Amino acid sequence: PFEFQGKHVTVAGLGVSGVPAAKVLHGLGARVTVVNDGADERARAQAAELEALGITVRLGDGDTLPDGTELIVTAPGWKPTKPLFTAAGQAGVPVWGDVELAWRLRRPDSAPWLAVTGTNGKTTTVQMLASILKAAGLRTAAVGNIGVSLLDAVTGDEEYDVLAVELSSYQLHWAPSLRAHSAAVLNLAPDHLDWHGSMEAYAADKGRIYEGNRVACVYNVADKATEGLVREADVEEGCRAIGFTLGSPAPSQLGVVDGILVDRAFVENRHKNAQELAEVSDVNPPAPHNIANALAAAALARAFGVPAAAVRDGLRAFTPDAHRIAHVADVDGVAYVDDSKATNTHATEASLAAYESIVWIAGGLAKGATFDELVAGAAKRLRGAVLIGADRALIREALTRHAPEVPVVDLDRTDTGAMLQAVQEARRLARPGDTVLLAPACASMDMFTNYNQRGDAFARAVRELGA
Ligand code: ADP
Repeated sequence: PFEFQGKHVTVAGLGVSGVPAAKVLHGLGARVTVVNDGADERARAQAAELEALGITVRLGDGDTLPDGTELIVTAPGWKPTKPLFTAAGQAGVPVWGDVELAWRLRRPDSAPWLAVTGTNGKTTTVQMLASILKAAGLRTAAVGNIGVSLLDAVTGDEEYDVLAVELSSYQLHWAPSLRAHSAAVLNLAPDHLDWHGSMEAYAADKGRIYEGNRVACVYNVADKATEGLVREADVEEGCRAIGFTLGSPAPSQLGVVDGILVDRAFVENRHKNAQELAEVSDVNPPAPHNIANALAAAALARAFGVPAAAVRDGLRAFTPDAHRIAHVADVDGVAYVDDSKATNTHATEASLAAYESIVWIAGGLAKGATFDELVAGAAKRLRGAVLIGADRALIREALTRHAPEVPVVDLDRTDTGAMLQAVQEARRLARPGDTVLLAPACASMDMFTNYNQRGDAFARAVRELGA
């Protein structure tokens, strides 16, 4: 075990991971200095809280390595190219992220990790997994970006049998010694490339989740890159590669046969070659990408030895978080669906694939994305489109190129009332049986505080239609 007593530890970044990390390290007897780029009101309040405990905080100076630093514990979002890390590299100082810290501090008897990463679907899959594990009577929690913090889960008093852990590519980048029981990479599409430097570097960071796995490396059969990462990983002897597919499963895969989720990897009765787990209709919502998430969750649960019936019960008990393909209301035979969380094209592609005839509300901040492939793939299913937000012209141009017949309403306003007008326009375009789908393919910060607020504005507007 690492000895923290008297060590000079620099915590890089206040905020959700930095403040608890600083406190824990201080409690272990380390001499903690926190460095932070900003010095706004929130940072000053957090600094005051830490200083009262005897922790040194340097605000507005996140790039100077404090003298004598023996270890840096960084917030996961800090870019590897920051001067602080260059200085650390030159001085031979190791850098850990929040996940590495939690991994190193976990109690020796603490619960094994079932870990999930991917460009999209992480939160949903981890929550489905926790629901399945609970249905099996196991003491568990969904940890990571959601729910219980990882550090609390591994160092706190609450006892767990197993943890369902969501990990971002940033967190994996800074977690070199993490070894999960089993792990899944759901999918890989370009995202956060400015941070990682390249698609290869992004994929390599995601692939770390498989390093040292003991029982199963779960990959997406439809996404060859995820299988490639399994092949490159250095795993424990006996660890198996387990695929999930929306089609009929081969041996060592989970898949779908005649509307039933089927396991051909972990079969309970050795006289059978497949185990039925649940019906597609047990998955909420039963959209293709979400069935993929359910299969990945089931694969990890099965790797942990969970019986088939618990997979079914856990999936039935699961309800998705807000703003993820949430059905808001039916008005005049038209369904209104809020997928405000679809903030990139890969997520939006999945939600557009889930409906037959769609009036699509999209737009916002494009973050450098292009929309040709997305629009070309969905053109046949679009009844119409209503565009909002700063970068809507990019989507409009893609629609002109690939779906010239589709009527487009281009709303040239970014005030908060724009969503109400967007929903009214969508209603005019929709016919009974259609779905009005908010799946923006963009970030929300040009018009809203975050995707939650954007989704709430949509739901409010829909309720006004119905009233
Ligand atoms: P994450 O935690 O990775 O951001 P979420 O579970 O919060 O993922 O889902 C985010 C959005 O991504 C959802 O609103 C949905 O549009 C989309 N999505 C979910 N699962 C998948 C998947 N397996 N493939 C593609 N898109 C998905």
